Amino acid sequence: MGTVQINRQAKYKSEEYTDLEMPSDDMDDYLENYHSKLVKARKETKCHYCGTTIKAGDQALSEKCFIDGKPYYIHDCLDCVEDVIKGWDDEAQTRWEQRAKESGYI
Ligand SMILES: [Zn+2]
Repeated sequence: MGTVQINRQAKYKSEEYTDLEMPSDDMDDYLENYHSKLVKARKETKCHYCGTTIKAGDQALSEKCFIDGKPYYIHDCLDCVEDVIKGWDDEAQTRWEQRAKESGYI
């Protein structure tokens, strides 16, 4: 009996993810053509915020923009993004630290 791989799926409506504009306010001056989208990862990648591996087939938030004319393209895992949607609190911070430590990000 094999284990069934269940890919990570978004819990909320896609607008809730794309309305976030994850980069911090102090980056506003540098952001041109910011665009975010809920995507299904085509290949394995890492979360920009916690370093967790986003597997191919998992949903993730992709963010694209130009900073000082240079393209900037990242993926964020749903664990990070959904904690931001819910409201980042101490528990979210603890979960983030756990993920970041497991991935060797911090
Ligand atoms: Zn993450």
